[in-house]
Amino acid sequence: MPRSQPVLFAIDDDVGVVAALQDDLTRRFGGDFRVIGESSAAAGLATLRGLADERVPVALLIVDHDMAEMPGVDFLARAHDMHPLAKRVLLVERDYSVRSPVIQAMTLGQADYYISKPWMLEQDLYRIVSGFLAGWAKDRQAGFALFHVIGRVQDRGTYELRELLTRFGVPFEFRAAYDRRGRKLLASRGLDGSRLPVVIRHDDYTMVQPTPAQVISATGGTTCSDVDACDLVIVGAGPAGLAAAVYAASEGLRTVVLEETVSGGQAGNSPMIRNYPGFPQGVSGHELTRQACEQAWMFGAHMVFAQPTVGLEKKEKYNPATPAGLADADYKPLQHSFVSLEGFLNAKLLVEVLKRMGANPVRAKIAETVAGIDGFELGMGRPISFAAQRNQGSDAIYYTTVENGRFVPIRDWKGWSK
Ligand SMILES: Cc1cc2nc3c(=O)[nH]c(=O)nc-3n(C[C@H](O)[C@H](O)[C@H](O)COP(=O)(O)OP(=O)(O)OC[C@H]3O[C@@H](n4cnc5c(N)ncnc54)[C@H](O)[C@@H]3O)c2cc1C
Repeated sequence: MPRSQPVLFAIDDDVGVVAALQDDLTRRFGGDFRVIGESSAAAGLATLRGLADERVPVALLIVDHDMAEMPGVDFLARAHDMHPLAKRVLLVERDYSVRSPVIQAMTLGQADYYISKPWMLEQDLYRIVSGFLAGWAKDRQAGFALFHVIGRVQDRGTYELRELLTRFGVPFEFRAAYDRRGRKLLASRGLDGSRLPVVIRHDDYTMVQPTPAQVISATGGTTCSDVDACDLVIVGAGPAGLAAAVYAASEGLRTVVLEETVSGGQAGNSPMIRNYPGFPQGVSGHELTRQACEQAWMFGAHMVFAQPTVGLEKKEKYNPATPAGLADADYKPLQHSFVSLEGFLNAKLLVEVLKRMGANPVRAKIAETVAGIDGFELGMGRPISFAAQRNQGSDAIYYTTVENGRFVPIRDWKGWSK
C-alpha cells in the first residue's frame, strides 16, 4: 500500500471495535484507501500529526464519542485542525433519544455525521462512508472544466458571468485577461481582449461578451419555452417553484417554469441546509435545488432559464371566443380538442339557449329560456323538452362507444355483458 494513499482513520479505546472497523473498512475501501486504527487518543493524535507532516491526505476521521482520555468531539476538533478537508464522523452507541451526543455535536458543527455501534455493513457503514468519500473527493479535486472564462477580475460583466456559472453549478476555470495563460487563450482564438469576458467551451465553441441566455444555452439549458400551451406556469425556480413543479408535473399537468436567472433561488447560495426533510446530515442548497430541478424536468416540467417574467396573460388562442353568429363553418378546433357525444349534445343545447336569449344574454334569463325549450330536435331522433318538474331534457339516455373513429350510441348490449 503506497504511503501517500489517502487515509481512513478510526479510533476507539475498545480495541475490539477498532479491529472490527479496520477489517470492515479495508474489505470495501482497502483498494483506494489506507485504513489506520488507534485505541488511544494520544497515539491517535501523534499518528495524525505524522500524516499531516508527510502531507498524506486523511479522508475520514471516525472517532468514538466516549473515550476515557478525551471526549470524541475534542479529539475531532484537534484532528480536524490538522486535516481540515477530512469528514468528521462520531462513533456512538445506538441511542435515538434526544440525549444522544450526536444531536449536540451536529447542531454545533462539531461533527458531519455519525455511525452507530454496532453497525450494519450495507445499511450503515458502507452507505455512509461511501457518501462521505464522494463529498470528500468532490471538495478536493478540481476536475473537469466545461468552460474557460477570460476577463478582468474587477469587471462587472466578468463578475456576473462567474456568479452565473457558479450558481448553475457549471465547472469552469477563470483566467485573467492580462496573465500569460489568459493572453494565450485569447490569441489562440484570434481575439485581442478588447471585448471581455470571453467564454471558451471545452469543444472550442467561443462566446464574446455572452448574454446569460447564451451561456445557459451553451451548457444545454433551455432559455425559451418549447410548448404552445400549458396547464400551469410557475414563476421562479427557487425551492417553492421547484417543489410546485415537481408536484404539478408528477400529477400530469403540463408545467412551465420561468426563471429569471438559473434555478436555486436564495437557497442555492446556502452552503448547508439542515432543516430540509429527508436530509438528516444536511445538504448544500445548491445540491438540493439542483436535484429538485432535475426531478421536475424528469417528470416533464419545461424549465426555462434566463427569462424574467414581466406579466402573465391568458392568450386568446386558448380561450376561443364563440364564433361569429354562433356559426360553425369557420370554427377550427384546437389540436387535441376532445368532445364526447354528451358534451357535443350539451354544446348544441347551450348554443340553442344562447340563440333564444338573443343579443343580450344574461344569467337571469337562463332558467326561463331553458324551461321554454319544447320539442327541440338535437339530432338524435328524439325531441327534447324541459319543464320545471324535469331535470332531464330527454327521455332517453344513451351509452356510447367509439366505432371507426366516431362516437355511436350503444343499442345492442350483446357483447358488452360480462
Ligand atoms: C445564504 C442563505 C442561507 C439560507 N439557509 C437556509 C436554511 O438553512 N434553511 C432554511 O429553511 N432557509 C434558508 N434560507 C432561506 C431560503 O433559502 C428561502 O426561504 C428560500 O430560498 C425561499 O424560496 P422561494 O422559492 O420562495 O424564493 P427564492 O429562493 O427567493 O426564489 C425565487 C426565484 O424566483 C426568481 N424570480 C424572481 N422574480 C422573477 C421573475 N419576475 N421572473 C422569473 N423569475 C423570477 C428568482 O430568480 C429566484 O430564483 C437561506 C437563505 C440564504 C440566502
